[in-house]
Amino acid sequence: MATIIDGKLVSQTIRGSIKDEVSALKAELGITPGLAVVLVGDDPASAVYVRNKHKACIDAGIESYVITMPADTKEDDLLAKIDELNADKNVNGILVQLPLPKHICEDNVINRISPEKDVDAFHPANVGKILIGNYDFLPCTPAGIMDLLAFYNIDIEGKECVVLGRSNIVGKPMSLLLLGKNGTVTTCHSRTKNLSEVTKRADILVVAIGRAEFVTADMVKPGAVVIDVGINRLANGKLVGDVKFDEVSAISSAITPVPGGVGPMTITTLLKNTLTAARKQN
Ligand code: NAP
Repeated sequence: MATIIDGKLVSQTIRGSIKDEVSALKAELGITPGLAVVLVGDDPASAVYVRNKHKACIDAGIESYVITMPADTKEDDLLAKIDELNADKNVNGILVQLPLPKHICEDNVINRISPEKDVDAFHPANVGKILIGNYDFLPCTPAGIMDLLAFYNIDIEGKECVVLGRSNIVGKPMSLLLLGKNGTVTTCHSRTKNLSEVTKRADILVVAIGRAEFVTADMVKPGAVVIDVGINRLANGKLVGDVKFDEVSAISSAITPVPGGVGPMTITTLLKNTLTAARKQN
């Protein structure tokens, strides 16, 4: 039976040290890190994510500024809001909750955020730094996964790492971070041929495709470490990952559950990045 990688526990531990560091920054320099989260429109899932981020900031002693704008906000007005936040000394990190309403170009918005305040690490300048391996911020979900692997002393060097999914926010940066730790990395996607032959090679398999319970035991090498990024709601309301947990946990050496695995780590990295931004700006 696999070790269940407890994202809540790791997250609580890391958030505890972030809180201590925030207090120390206040005591030493009189600075309170601040995170601005901009929510455009009324997507209920996005509203939940923004509330969770707000609460996590408050718990860590980070100042939280939630800016809500109506769904019919003009792109120029959103860009003007970002300019304002870029110039605001109390705001160290800026995050615009995605997805945005269809009439707003996400790239224009991401490109407008000052790279020094881009705590999601989506700005091309930060993406380029990650490619080179000399970065200030890492994207929240892949960095959270690296923290999980480190916490459980899972060695990456020389291991066959397979990343299923190549999105800009999860799959691609995940592959780069594993490569940075000397893993031998293969990235798979919807056009990959003989997918299960590739996934079966993995010592470490990271799955981020958004397909409920897609990865079954016959796609996994016995003893592999399996990281499930997916969040999918079934018709019966149950939340499941991209991995069929019951059967894969029976053959893997370690696995993240959904919920309670990767999920809590994403906001933890966001807090970390906000603290880093505050330090660098002061
Ligand atoms: P995305 O942008 O939709 O990308 C999905 C990727 O999976 C694409 O690269 C796609 O390939 C690939 N793919 C889709 N179906 C496939 C298949 N049948 N076989 C092989 N590859 C396939 O998704 P994302 O934003 O990366 O998110 C992935 C999942 O992670 C979602 O469930 C999302 O909700 C979840 N997520 C969770 C967190 C968290 O905090 N836990 C954070 C972010 C995302 P192509 O490129 O060829 O289309």
